[in-house]
Amino acid sequence: KQQALQDIRTSRPVTKDGEEIELFANIEVPDDCILSIENGATGVGLFRSEFLFLSESDLPTEEEQFLAYKQVAEAMKGQPVIIRTVDLGKDKIPKWQQERETPNPALGLTGIRLCMAEPQMFRTQLRALLRASAYGKIKLLLPMLSYVGEVRQTRKHLEEAKAQLREDHIAFDENIELGGMIEVPAAAVQVAQFLAHLDFISIGTNDLIQYTLAVDRNDDSVSHLYDPLHPAVIQLLHHVISTANRLGKPVSMCGEMAGDPALTRLLLGLGLRRFSMLPIQLLKVKQEILTGQMQKIKPLVEKMLVAEDSQCLRELLQQLHQDD
Ligand code: PEP
Ligand code: MG
Repeated sequence: KQQALQDIRTSRPVTKDGEEIELFANIEVPDDCILSIENGATGVGLFRSEFLFLSESDLPTEEEQFLAYKQVAEAMKGQPVIIRTVDLGKDKIPKWQQERETPNPALGLTGIRLCMAEPQMFRTQLRALLRASAYGKIKLLLPMLSYVGEVRQTRKHLEEAKAQLREDHIAFDENIELGGMIEVPAAAVQVAQFLAHLDFISIGTNDLIQYTLAVDRNDDSVSHLYDPLHPAVIQLLHHVISTANRLGKPVSMCGEMAGDPALTRLLLGLGLRRFSMLPIQLLKVKQEILTGQMQKIKPLVEKMLVAEDSQCLRELLQQLHQDD
């Protein structure tokens, strides 16, 4: 099986009946690009920028950030690199934030909210990202969106950062794309309104599941209730993916569901065509794509959409993986 996986390293991810899929990598540090390319990723679907903010006691400088982003842009040689603006709070609390009182970190000052509260920090990151965009195909991704206004405000910051760079005669990509994570149920429900202001979206299933089901999977007393196959999760995913497809806007998934080969066909059936995952999962997911057939997948996924509970969904999921 390992050999078989190696054999498909360079083959394009296409279903048996010709549906083209894109496979991207999730990375945490610039050096992860090596493993991503080795495993056939044709871009970075999620570069978590937190490592820059967690390792030191001070905030990273614009120059430090610029060098890290540029390194990834160059390593990927013009292929898309989606860099997420810093997503702190929740499980990742840097030293300079630890004094803040946080009754419930998961519902507190996380992701884009912290960026709105710390505009100086956000502006420094946007400048570093813009400067790095002169060296490859960088796209920006905003974490933990729950209000459309957060995108509008980000656009203002971005325009101001661009104006500064122009004034300083520093090169950047004028057409840099701005995307948003769909990982809070409010954003999933309102995805059409978000898409009016965004160039693309990426679904973060890790958080979307936790907030939809009100379950922390790191809490042993409830972790058994954390279930990607809860019908409410599947219906939300369907709503998000089909809305984006209908509006002609790119939608990808970068949460762990995207890297689980047991769920690949379900996601294909929901209309997903762009997957981003840990580099080590890429070939396993590609194998599911190469052996999958949309004609067979679609009717089964239609049934899954009206399933009453996750037990029904699991039975149908098994059928999705029979017959080839
Ligand atoms: C997610 O929530 O699915 C996601 C990709 O973001 P993170 O795991 O970094 O919270
Ligand atoms: Mg998340």
